[in-house]
Amino acid sequence: MLESVRGFVFDLDGCVWNGNTLNPGARETLARLVAAGRTIAFLTNNSRATADDILERLHGLGVEVAAHAFTPLEIIGAVITQRFGPSRVLAIGAPEMAVVIARAGHALIDVKHYPRATVVAVGNDFDLTYERLTAASRAAAKGGRLVTPNVDPRLPIEGGDFLPGCGALVAAVAAAAGVTPVVVGKPEPPLFRMALARLGLTPGEAAMVGDSVPSDIRGARAVGMRTVLYAPEGPASSEADITIRSFADLAHLAGVPS
Ligand SMILES: [Mg+2]
Repeated sequence: MLESVRGFVFDLDGCVWNGNTLNPGARETLARLVAAGRTIAFLTNNSRATADDILERLHGLGVEVAAHAFTPLEIIGAVITQRFGPSRVLAIGAPEMAVVIARAGHALIDVKHYPRATVVAVGNDFDLTYERLTAASRAAAKGGRLVTPNVDPRLPIEGGDFLPGCGALVAAVAAAAGVTPVVVGKPEPPLFRMALARLGLTPGEAAMVGDSVPSDIRGARAVGMRTVLYAPEGPASSEADITIRSFADLAHLAGVPS
């Protein structure tokens, strides 16, 4: 099935890399796919990085064939505009998220002035405090629309370990406020469609490779892509078209073995 796939879209955290370490065989398989004339792109739910940040990290790790990356930060400002118009946004997350929201024309609201916020954007916040959690929860409870890059509960890192993900933080705010967030990244369709458009492929010509059934597999399937679950240790999933154990498996199935 994968021999006829013209383009592959790869998830990053827990798939191509864990923390700052590429998973075994990833660099080699990605290079072979490109050498064989297949196109590749990277689609991450990272709430702290722009596409340029991601490409720089990939190049630094020796993935020189990386040319297309997509993150929720590319579109979060536009999604807020489409859904709610120009907004006053309380941004709880990385500075990079606040920058892209401001660049899209929204006004940023300081934590101390949270009642003025019409939108509450919650990304992964390595400097989270109880004050910020309180401001976000109260603003969302008072009618501020809750928007998040992703609802992934964990951020996988080296050694099989993890950090609490953006989804864990937004779940806390959503629970306290009694609201449901608008999700910008996977599994929602916009980033998948952007990646397909950039690669010039129809959904049926492309496969999504990722480690998350809720984000990668269900999201890609919903837009009509083929789906490959990367599960080096975990169980296979009947929701994915194929489950692979390694990047060598992927190279073999795609017809580009070493
Ligand atoms: Mg992942």
